[in-house]
Amino acid sequence: MKINSCRNCGIRFLVARSICPNCGKEDFESIPVKKGTVLESVELIASPEPFPDRYYLVLLDVDGTRVFCRSEEKLKEGSEVKITEDNMGPVCIMA
Ligand SMILES: [Zn+2]
Repeated sequence: MKINSCRNCGIRFLVARSICPNCGKEDFESIPVKKGTVLESVELIASPEPFPDRYYLVLLDVDGTRVFCRSEEKLKEGSEVKITEDNMGPVCIMA
C-alpha cells in the first residue's frame, strides 16, 4: 500500500489529490507503508462482489495517517499489523 506525501509541507494522506489540502502545492510522492496500528475493526457481512461475504474492515493509524484495510480475523485495537495487498486492495494481518 502507498500513501501520498506532499513534497512541500510533508502532509500525508491516503486518497490521491491534485492539490495539497494543506499548502496548495501540486508536488507529491508515494510512500510505501507496511505496518500500522489498529484503531477500529468492524465486521462486514453481505458485502458486494468480489469481496468475501464476511470480513473485517479495519481502520489503521500509519504514522498519523488513517488508512483502511481488510482482514479475515477480528483485530484488537492497539495491535500492530502488517499491511499487504491483493488484487482487491490492502489486507492487514497480525505482525
Ligand atoms: Zn503541502
